[in-house]
Amino acid sequence: MLHRSRLLLIAALACTGLLLVRPDLLAASQPAALQSPAVAQRPLLVLVSIDGLRPDAVLEAEAHGMHLPNLRALMRDGSYAEGVTGVLPTMTYPSHMTLMTGAVPARHGIYTNTTFDPLGHNDGGWYWYAEDGRAQTLWDAAAQAKLTTGNIYWPTSVGAQVTYNLPQIWRSGTADDRKLQHALSTPGLEAQLGEGLGTYPAGDQETVEDDAQRTRYAQRLIETRRPDFTTVYLTGLDSEQHNSGPFSPMANAALERLDALIGQLRASAERAAPGRAYFCVVSDHGFAAIQHDVSLYPALVQSGLITLSADRSRIIDWQAMPWGAGGSVALMLADPGNAQTRDTVHALLKRLASDPHNGIDKILDQDELHRRGGFPDAAFLVTFRVGYETGFNLSGPLVTAASHRGMHGYPPEVPEMRSSFFITGPDVPAGQSLGVIDMRAIAPTLADVLHIRLRDADEPVLALGRHDRGGSRPLLAQANR
Ligand SMILES: [Zn+2]
Repeated sequence: MLHRSRLLLIAALACTGLLLVRPDLLAASQPAALQSPAVAQRPLLVLVSIDGLRPDAVLEAEAHGMHLPNLRALMRDGSYAEGVTGVLPTMTYPSHMTLMTGAVPARHGIYTNTTFDPLGHNDGGWYWYAEDGRAQTLWDAAAQAKLTTGNIYWPTSVGAQVTYNLPQIWRSGTADDRKLQHALSTPGLEAQLGEGLGTYPAGDQETVEDDAQRTRYAQRLIETRRPDFTTVYLTGLDSEQHNSGPFSPMANAALERLDALIGQLRASAERAAPGRAYFCVVSDHGFAAIQHDVSLYPALVQSGLITLSADRSRIIDWQAMPWGAGGSVALMLADPGNAQTRDTVHALLKRLASDPHNGIDKILDQDELHRRGGFPDAAFLVTFRVGYETGFNLSGPLVTAASHRGMHGYPPEVPEMRSSFFITGPDVPAGQSLGVIDMRAIAPTLADVLHIRLRDADEPVLALGRHDRGGSRPLLAQANR
């Protein structure tokens, strides 16, 4: 009934000439051929993130027994980093926000994957919402420059300023999650892109098969809407590396399948914008093999800093609380100004670190966290040695067998945590190694490709050796805002 009355209203407005066509829906149905000549001259950039892709997986593909023709072609045809030094912590969400802003987590506001939720009231919520971000993103800067943007599943994209957005979100894992996903996406976009393609994956579907399906939607988005800037996020390799470890036969097989998807996405970019397409592949962090879980909860309970329910199944009160981030764990204080609690926690952590069986590498204090731009509200960050990850047992021994085979979240200077960067485009030098780069340099470099400015980036534009087509002025020297 509601639908019918809306149709009647629309018909009435159309007859009186009062129907206002929504520009976003008009654009969504506009074939590429109808775009204006000015649009047809602009660069087109597709940015693909392969979660957890280690640079050596591509640079030394043969030594690892992998055949990656499409990723290797990016090295041959474009410029690439030997490795990317990430941010603290080397987790998916803060790293993806750094890739979009050029800022460290303390400045961009996405501190790890999950929000701090000491009593578990938020149902395992992640930093899904763009409104948690405090720095200008590439999407924001593109919108400000009146460029169109597209997104398939990039982290922290719910409510982002994106023209064609299929954001990442899940909640209970029930069928209703799809309705939430639809409600938070650009109206009608999923159905329009999906005609004949089959169902778009739900938010918690993260296999290589789900990547393949999202890639089909991304290809159609790029080729029919031709956004100036499109982000695509692929997560099947990360899932497999957590399950079976980096460079396991299954992880290598997953990457070989993702390589084919990279070839498809690059072809779509070049079909959408012949001669002016830039194609960039990044990752958010590396990966390390692990054997042990270390839970700080039992030690905090024993010290009276956490109080459990009578059946010891849940936390009912706390003064100090772990906030896990894979290979590291932050310690939050209920009262950050309480020096006595801080000293008690510090003494406890030092005692635990003195036993090498606990796998603790370093204890970073608040001053160091502020210097390094991670977990600005934490009292301490415990970093583990490679091979150990944060555990979540409330009781029992501190160290148990690992619940995964692979993990990240260690400090960015740990060599296994290095991530990846590859870029091709009309004026990007072929076969050029950029050495080891800082992750914060990627966003301003992509802004430069799009001829826009990024406000909050910490690092200068990468010296790709590009020249603008109007003359010989090197773009690499431009300062960041
Ligand atoms: Zn990740």
